[in-house]
Amino acid sequence: SPTEEVLPIVVIGHVDHGKSTLIGRLLFDTGSVPEGKAEELARAAAAEGVPFEHAFLLDSLLEEQAQNVTIDTTEIRFRTRRRRYAIIDAPGHKEFLKNMLSGAARAHAAVLVVDAQEGVREQTRRHAMLLPILGIRHILVGINKMDLVDFAESRYREIAGSLATLFAELGLPEPTSLPLSARLGENIVQPSPRMPWYVGGTLLEALDAVPALPSLDDLPLRFSVQDVYRRGAERLIAGRVETGSLRVGDELLFWPGRKRARLRAFAEWPPETTPEEASAGRSTALILEEEIFVERGMIASSLEKTPIEAREFPAKIFWLGPDPLRVGESYELRLMTQSVGARVTEVDRIIDAETLSVQDSQKPGVAPNEIAEVLIRTQRPLAFDNASEIALTGRFILAKDGRILGGGIVLGARYPKASLP
Ligand code: GDP
Repeated sequence: SPTEEVLPIVVIGHVDHGKSTLIGRLLFDTGSVPEGKAEELARAAAAEGVPFEHAFLLDSLLEEQAQNVTIDTTEIRFRTRRRRYAIIDAPGHKEFLKNMLSGAARAHAAVLVVDAQEGVREQTRRHAMLLPILGIRHILVGINKMDLVDFAESRYREIAGSLATLFAELGLPEPTSLPLSARLGENIVQPSPRMPWYVGGTLLEALDAVPALPSLDDLPLRFSVQDVYRRGAERLIAGRVETGSLRVGDELLFWPGRKRARLRAFAEWPPETTPEEASAGRSTALILEEEIFVERGMIASSLEKTPIEAREFPAKIFWLGPDPLRVGESYELRLMTQSVGARVTEVDRIIDAETLSVQDSQKPGVAPNEIAEVLIRTQRPLAFDNASEIALTGRFILAKDGRILGGGIVLGARYPKASLP
């Protein structure tokens, strides 16, 4: 039901541009802060002789969460009349990018905060560049601290214009921008009386206008195999319907290898609740008619809308480091439940976040925090999709010794003829 919908969002942007203040404001002005909390923090601030900041609300929530051992991810919630929101992860959190790249956290929309006085800075560009790799499609630009520029429309237009240019250079659709003052609470939840020239809605209204999460059921079937085991005479293929749906009697292809089999039944416990059909998000087990070879890591599809199977593909990656990625060095590539050895064989383009300049000449590697277009070669065939077609099966992480070093998306790989999803 629409009231149960939770939209995961992130708040990103250059340090000190006002992310924490904006989150504090959103929480405070939507009445999501426990009764008396703001007063308590204001008293504590006064006792220390510092002015109250709305960012304290976020800090205190995060502190409480850190003490609560039953919560393992930071997730700040608030709600509007339309739906609930979860601000996943917090600005400046050091695991933020790792969580986003690995899919441990997945945001549907982002608020990119830009200081009206400082304008676009290096991290603004870097974060904007990362959005497509992180699979975030809806972007709101909050031009914050408008109080520091006398709420001047001309300054707002100037910065909104430079962001439109930046997004165009990055090949992203033009973002929605809004003039804000997080400190004064102007145009966050309450409209701004000091910016009569601005006729758009508040940040909250813009968030409410972000379309709901698209249904994964409508995409082609991708079932990821987690485990294969025997129960008596039967072989159970346990896994998850990532996208699409499947029914008893369906013909399936298992990738890599393109092995074909018919789905005889689902196996769940208790047996009475075992379905005839399973749709996206369901963890279940399959029993096949044919004894084809299946192992963890494989992806099942329908006969028509198949994934790509290849040992080489173009990708856009973000490298975390700490050491540079080196061409030819072996890493572990994880995509859904698949895990294979992989090397970058070519670095075609590196985009410099500081200058946005593109280095087209071939490079021996990719430095930490750089975004690059590369060619990846795997030791064994891999099944995947282009991220533009199916985001879930089009993204991967690169790791070594169990540590996540980077992540990326598959870009422009070719589907076999007549099997485009
Ligand atoms: P973050 O690093 O992006 O999370 O930034 P913070 O939220 O910690 O804010 C950095 C500084 O900017 C703090 O001193 C805030 O009080 C201040 N700040 C945030 N929003 C506004 C605003 O709208 N107007 C003014 N004047 N200062 C702001």
